[in-house]
Amino acid sequence: MTTDSPWQAALAQLDEAAVVLGLDAGVLEVLRHPKRVLEVSVPTRMDDGSVRVFTGFRVHHNTTRGPSKGGIRYHPDVDMDEVKALAMWMTWKCAIVGIPYGGAKGGVAVDPKALSRDELARMTRRYASEILPLIGPERDIPAPDVGTDEQIMAWIMDTFSMNMGYSVPGVVTGKPLAVGGSLGRAEATSRGVMYVTSATLKHRGLSVEDTRVAVQGYGKVGAPAVKLLSDLGCKVVAVSDVHGGVFNSNGLSHADLAEFHRESGTVTGFPGGDALANTELLAVDCDVFIPAALEGVLNQSNADDVKARIIVEAANGPTTPGADDVLNDRGIFVVPDILANSGGVTVSYFEWVQDIQAFFWTEDEVNARLRSIMERAYVDVLNLAQERQVSMRVAATMLGVSRVAEAHATRGLYP
Ligand code: NAD
Repeated sequence: MTTDSPWQAALAQLDEAAVVLGLDAGVLEVLRHPKRVLEVSVPTRMDDGSVRVFTGFRVHHNTTRGPSKGGIRYHPDVDMDEVKALAMWMTWKCAIVGIPYGGAKGGVAVDPKALSRDELARMTRRYASEILPLIGPERDIPAPDVGTDEQIMAWIMDTFSMNMGYSVPGVVTGKPLAVGGSLGRAEATSRGVMYVTSATLKHRGLSVEDTRVAVQGYGKVGAPAVKLLSDLGCKVVAVSDVHGGVFNSNGLSHADLAEFHRESGTVTGFPGGDALANTELLAVDCDVFIPAALEGVLNQSNADDVKARIIVEAANGPTTPGADDVLNDRGIFVVPDILANSGGVTVSYFEWVQDIQAFFWTEDEVNARLRSIMERAYVDVLNLAQERQVSMRVAATMLGVSRVAEAHATRGLYP
């Protein structure tokens, strides 16, 4: 485990916030440990008749404020260290936006693109069966993350429901509309990113029309963010995915790019701009950089290359603590992940509420409620950052940690 591992980064952020808060040492010790961790074997029959055993995880970091909530990631690099970090960030995120959840995360070390649809379904159903004792609408509610999608959520919902003997739509969020999904969920994380970007531009006195944006990652979060920021009036000048990137100083057409991606499965080779290596994207001349891929992409080796004055972290954990110091010293304004990408879990909460009530909202209702929650969370964090003279990341972590600590103190330490 390096000092830049996601879990080490998450602990360092917690420790820093705890010092400024003057957090009780016992509470800090509790929060530095996940509540429970589960590692499972996921034996899966492949199409050729052979059996492969994948390794899966589910971590509950904290459930003091309610059932735990967090996505499921399918990626070859998934390990316990990463899942623990992502679960801790979920705890702070839910507290920052004031929704009644704790934090969880899960994942399987697998490349989902290397499996057939049938193999993916069998692996997902077996993974869901293995984590069954931990999940449920009153316990822990998974959602999509990197490498998973609404079809995978539908298989998990079906597996859980078959085991219960009745339909339980509230066991996962980010489901298809046909089985209790919510309008607005698919683009909610990106919509939240757009709201906080807009609030940041206002706070910094910048006009939307003059703002040039670069987005790293063109998946469930990155692609809708490109569209929503373009619709807002920003000029998206660079976009990348795992294969490479594309740049156009006059702005990329989001509609043409989406069409190209639909046909080719990548943004590389898009004729509306010049090719760009993934490493070059960080150094693109722009005003706002939006990482929307994986952890640790901004580290000490490249933080000096960043030209943007604002970073909005759509991804979880994209900035290592070392890079954070460099960016802060350079006066770059970083809107941290636990605030910037909290739109996803917020609308997941709306979906769960709708499932439990069996009463569904219009898309306008979803988006209006999301907007008011995100704008209030942004102001809460900004005010705290200004009041305590700390970065937005420290302020966001302080806000999340203090709300969890208050709930912990109110409940008391069992027994
Ligand atoms: P996704 O699997 O849909 O997309 C990931 C994208 O990142 C793909 O375009 C992929 O090609 C690209 N990518 C992967 N490695 C890359 C690299 N080295 N350089 C550039 N691009 C790379 O995943 P997603 O759901 O969009 O999640 C992206 C990030 O947002 C993750 O950090 C995730 O935890 C976070 N997040 C997602 C949600 C959600 O609702 N899906 C909510 C909150 C946070």
